[in-house]
Amino acid sequence: MKPPPFELHRPTSVEEVLSLLAEHGDDAKVLAGGQSLIPLLNFRLARPEVLVDINRVTELDRISASPDGGISIGALTRQAAVEASELAVTRNPLLGDALRLVAHPQIRNRGTFGGSVAHADPAAELPVAIVATDATVSVRSRGGERRIPAGEFFVSHLTTVMADDELLVSVDLPAVPERCGTAFEEFARRSGDYALGGAAAVVALRSDGSCASAALALLGAGDVPIRAREAESAVVGRPIDAASAAEAARQAVRDTSPISNMHGDADYRRRVVEAMVERALLKAAGRAEARSS
Ligand SMILES: Cc1cc2nc3c(=O)[nH]c(=O)nc-3n(C[C@H](O)[C@H](O)[C@H](O)COP(=O)(O)OP(=O)(O)OC[C@H]3O[C@@H](n4cnc5c(N)ncnc54)[C@H](O)[C@@H]3O)c2cc1C
Repeated sequence: MKPPPFELHRPTSVEEVLSLLAEHGDDAKVLAGGQSLIPLLNFRLARPEVLVDINRVTELDRISASPDGGISIGALTRQAAVEASELAVTRNPLLGDALRLVAHPQIRNRGTFGGSVAHADPAAELPVAIVATDATVSVRSRGGERRIPAGEFFVSHLTTVMADDELLVSVDLPAVPERCGTAFEEFARRSGDYALGGAAAVVALRSDGSCASAALALLGAGDVPIRAREAESAVVGRPIDAASAAEAARQAVRDTSPISNMHGDADYRRRVVEAMVERALLKAAGRAEARSS
């Protein structure tokens, strides 16, 4: 299929993008890497009259160190560039874990960090990773900038809190805790496919080996990434071993509502996510221990 006709704009600055979005409202769509939007156009599932191609807005293509030990990633930064960035994956190892699971290298070469977050696919890895690490998403319109905690950014399947005239400009990820290990585990039918279920874990250990803090975010357990706060609290203060990880995993999925479709029903997906939480917790704890010994 070919896309329906559209008017193409190729601005070179954020200000120009914001003017175009203000002018065209919900008739316009931002085009970043095109890895999700172009298939939607070709299948005619989206019919924007105007495309605002941001690929010449070079100020959005950057990875920088933040003073607090974290990193800031411009929306147009290619997923492959983040994966290859020593700064990004050292300061936030969960990004490296997550990006290796995103589609195939060819798609990561074009797909952008901001595009994946703005697209808000519940089966995508980067939204889960930014929710697990308490990142902040910055969006701009001609009216100013809003900084939104990642946990409040996703509303539903392919829907975020962004308004039609807003552009996602960057994602800020804070420093991970000391003596910390991360892991991203998922199950997909074939390597590179969207996963049926998954989990991200960030675990920090005390010097006696017990858990100082844990963050757990679930992929495919609902229509947005879910933080499993009760399961996180349940492991804090205890060693993370087979028994505590299994218990936390059961708790993490208890009240979740995964979708049912031809690839798996809700009960099956819940069991997949549970298994991934258990694996991710154990792997993250093992890495935290290895880092601190
Ligand atoms: C075969 C295949 C397999 C894939 N598998 C996976 C997978 O396993 N995991 C995964 O996470 N992803 C997967 N993807 C999607 C891929 O990661 C995309 O790159 C990503 O979802 C969208 O990024 P993009 O830069 O290509 O955005 P685009 O396709 O250009 O845009 C996607 C949406 O986000 C909006 N948008 C983009 N940038 C901005 C911005 N800065 N501000 C506001 N709105 C914006 C667009 O208007 C559009 O609605 C797959 C894609 C393909 C084709």
